[in-house]
Amino acid sequence: QCKASGRNRSLRFDPRQEMRAAEDLSLEQDLRRALNEDQLGIHYQPIIDCHSGEVVSLEALARWQHPRLGAISPERFVQLAEQYGFIAELDSWVTRRACQDLQRLGRPRLRVAVNCSALNLGNPRLPDAIADILADTALAAERLTVEITENALMNNLSAAVAVLESIRALGVKLSIDDFGTGYSSLAYLSRLPVDTLKVDRSFVRDLDSQANDRAIAAAIIAMAHKLDLKVIAEGVEQPTQQTFLTGNGCDMIQGYLFSRPLPLDGLTDWLAQRAALNVLDPQATATA
Ligand code: C2E
Ligand code: MG
Ligand code: MG
Ligand code: MG
Repeated sequence: QCKASGRNRSLRFDPRQEMRAAEDLSLEQDLRRALNEDQLGIHYQPIIDCHSGEVVSLEALARWQHPRLGAISPERFVQLAEQYGFIAELDSWVTRRACQDLQRLGRPRLRVAVNCSALNLGNPRLPDAIADILADTALAAERLTVEITENALMNNLSAAVAVLESIRALGVKLSIDDFGTGYSSLAYLSRLPVDTLKVDRSFVRDLDSQANDRAIAAAIIAMAHKLDLKVIAEGVEQPTQQTFLTGNGCDMIQGYLFSRPLPLDGLTDWLAQRAALNVLDPQATATA
């Protein structure tokens, strides 16, 4: 009955942990299958230029609808893929599909951003894998941005910098995701070959009520501009947040204020609707 009575006599039996481990194992197999059988999906969230109001980019966010368990959060399945060693496959599946979808949308000025687990930056073949996807999908490299979450960059900085430099040499843009959380270090920011910072949602959420968050957000924007980087604010839900960020020089914003992440069909409709609104009243699109 009690597993801990065997080899691991010294370990206390924790039924919840045991259940989680068994659950993870079977989920891991389901996730591998979903990946191999093209059962994952992508939702796209628009990124808007603060000054022109134009939709300039889309962030590709992986989705997994488990046949029995329903939607599993990306945090959960990305972590599983990292833990079981197939995050490279997952991220390259998303990248390929996102590049294909962007071509299908047929809007030559629109770009797409994909998330890349920083674990992948330990893989020197990553730049070639990205180059292959761009060649296969005939997408101009400038139209792809790779977002990297900053905290995992710290593990092996010089190797990561070399991989990032090769990706950037392809013409692909690089972005630091969730900036300001985790192991933020200004010392390495100046050494990373990146184009954009994404201000983490945690600094945006309480802009209205927290003077400290307003100070931090404004300082991140000013610092990024001095380093010649563009700034995207994520998690913008309120018009007041938009006003503050735009007033402080933020370049782009993303959040529920404009749109939740949408499946490709929904996004096509959303873009068409927005274009129609824009013709009627360019001011209206800021809060549409
Ligand atoms: P992220 O890259 O920082 O993506 C932004 C997250 O914030 C998304 O959550 C998005 O749905 C959510 N969000 C956007 N606007 C708002 C808003 O106004 N309010 C609130 N409350 N939330 C907002 P999601 O889709 O659950 O993704 C979570 C994280 O999972 C992502 O954070 C990213 O780190 C990771 N992820 C998603 N897809 C992939 C992928 O293909 N590969 C890798 N490696 N990671 C991925
Ligand atoms: Mg991201
Ligand atoms: Mg983010
Ligand atoms: Mg995030």
